Amino acid sequence: MFNSSGNKTLRWLTAMVMALVLLAAVSTPKRCEYQRVWAQALMLAPQIVVLDPGHGGIDTGAAGPGGIMEKDITLPVCQYLKEYLSLSGARVLLTRPDDKELSEDFEEDLRLRVDLIKRSQATLFLSIHGNSFPAPSEYGAQTFFCDNHNESERLARCIQAELKKLEPLGENYREAQSGDFYVLRNSPVPAALVEIGFLSNPEEERLLADPSYQKQLAWRIFAGLVAFWRGEGISDQSLTPVSLKSTIGAR
Ligand SMILES: [Zn+2]
Repeated sequence: MFNSSGNKTLRWLTAMVMALVLLAAVSTPKRCEYQRVWAQALMLAPQIVVLDPGHGGIDTGAAGPGGIMEKDITLPVCQYLKEYLSLSGARVLLTRPDDKELSEDFEEDLRLRVDLIKRSQATLFLSIHGNSFPAPSEYGAQTFFCDNHNESERLARCIQAELKKLEPLGENYREAQSGDFYVLRNSPVPAALVEIGFLSNPEEERLLADPSYQKQLAWRIFAGLVAFWRGEGISDQSLTPVSLKSTIGAR
């Protein structure tokens, strides 16, 4: 039997426990992170972003053992990413809005993609592709950069840091890496090329064709862009013990 001060303590304790349960229910780490990225994104000055869904039309790109074509996964990821960027106030242009090549001539097709970066006065360029490798066990998204602009490497680091948080098939050891791609080399603005995963891996091929996974990829790339615009991803900062360990384990 409690006296009145005991009752008061019990009521207070019950209220505290209920408040904690409620807080745990509404503030999961995932939700907190989601809200943080949105809050940061909404504070950004408007950007002009050109998104490039790799391949298209007669150019199918790589294909997986299950028949999923690269051109059919790069477009939806860019469309989801466009939604996130547009909601944060950025102006977004796609090099192709549907399943059509820009030119039947391969070199001309790439040249026209770069032309859009210049014509639109873009502030950032991002090309999305799917990877392929003879060994089907290879998996994981990877971001590439070129020395076209002194901010491209930092951009790639920011995106890769977010993509590494996606681990549907196990730890992603891949780091941002330099790569000589025409669209990157000729971009006048910070640019990166994201290989969103390996179509040659049957499990990853299935994931890449799944709209909910495509949306997760788009969200991670978006969070990476927000980090980039906030000035994160400086070279020295990324040399944490975890990054060093990942580099050693890279394949
Ligand atoms: Zn490609």
